[in-house]
Amino acid sequence: MSFNLSSRLAERRAAHLYRQRPLLESPQGVRVVVDGQPLLAFCNNDYLGLASHPAVIEAFAEGARRWGVGGGASHLVVGHSQPHHELEEALAEFTGRPRALLMSSGYMANLGAVTALAGQGDTVLEDRLNHASLLDAGLLSGARFSRYLHNDVNSLAGRLDKSQGNTLVVTDGVFSMDGDLAELPGVCATAAERGAWVMVDDAHGFGCLGNNGGGIVEHFGLSVEQVPVLIGTLGKAFGTAGAFVAGSEELIETLIQFARPYIYTTSQPPAVACATLRSLQLLQGEHWRRERLAQLIAQFRIGVADIGLELMNSPTPIQPILVGSSERAMALSAALREQGILVTAIRPPTVPRGTARLRVTLSAAHSEDDVNQLLDALKRAVAQLPVTQSSEAHDA
Ligand code: PMP
Repeated sequence: MSFNLSSRLAERRAAHLYRQRPLLESPQGVRVVVDGQPLLAFCNNDYLGLASHPAVIEAFAEGARRWGVGGGASHLVVGHSQPHHELEEALAEFTGRPRALLMSSGYMANLGAVTALAGQGDTVLEDRLNHASLLDAGLLSGARFSRYLHNDVNSLAGRLDKSQGNTLVVTDGVFSMDGDLAELPGVCATAAERGAWVMVDDAHGFGCLGNNGGGIVEHFGLSVEQVPVLIGTLGKAFGTAGAFVAGSEELIETLIQFARPYIYTTSQPPAVACATLRSLQLLQGEHWRRERLAQLIAQFRIGVADIGLELMNSPTPIQPILVGSSERAMALSAALREQGILVTAIRPPTVPRGTARLRVTLSAAHSEDDVNQLLDALKRAVAQLPVTQSSEAHDA
């Protein structure tokens, strides 16, 4: 017997679920060149337009000249350098928590935090729509693992009543494929009543939500005690790479001792930490970036409603248009591309069957005119190819 890879791949293709990697031939940004074609892009997570900011690039270049290119070793061997340390201190201060721990990616931060905290005999409860890395972390932890209905505090309470051992309740802050916010005050109150801890992965909220960019926790005015484990990623609003866990002194020491995805991996290049320190300053100082985003989000939502397309309940830069079938989502994305606009179609298994969508993301680097161009192109694409309502459309 051998693995029959060709039939697996053929099945995926037949189901319109085959994934391909577009080749980016320009710096990341709003105007990109992909597979040889110049495009106006609405699909990266560079929400504040910092990924190609000259000051961030300069900090990166200067960091590489001073600290070299590679991290060189894991943090516990000799890979924990001064820029990493300074960034951890700055992130702790920014999040108002005693300490922060830098990780190489959001995926690893989530695996590391959940598996270091919960194990056999414990319980991990997660929102059904959590990011794949959180779901993988729950499974890998060896704890009893269960998913509650999306943003449903009663469903969470029911599972909490049956939980065993120490319980960790885990939720995205902003749901990555829907753009909606976690019902965090309710989740925290429900968890606290039953003595469970809450962990929030604020990958998409951090930098964007809250007056100061402090994310979902700032948005809802929640205390450190209500969210003892806070994850932020640096590859989105910060425009760089990596992630962090913020929390108590004991939490961070526990992760340093027990989080395998932290211990057994090379530290991120120190120059990335230098660049991130610079983008943190910009993110804190330049409020206009969040204000611009809010204006663009409002403009986009009004325009899409006028076209008669179905939006999701999202106040964030993630503004998916619900399409329904994967085939139709792909056709719509192709029709936009023919008009010079890049918007990715998101299909199962990333999202539930029958809910394929165009995942539009907005950035402070977009202009009002860019959003108008997108709306005009959408109007033309829809005229070419009528979009059925999601309730009527099903994937094969
Ligand atoms: N959490 C969420 C909610 C995400 O959307 C992502 C990635 N898109 C991650 C974690 C993983 O972060 P990273 O890309 O830094 O691994």
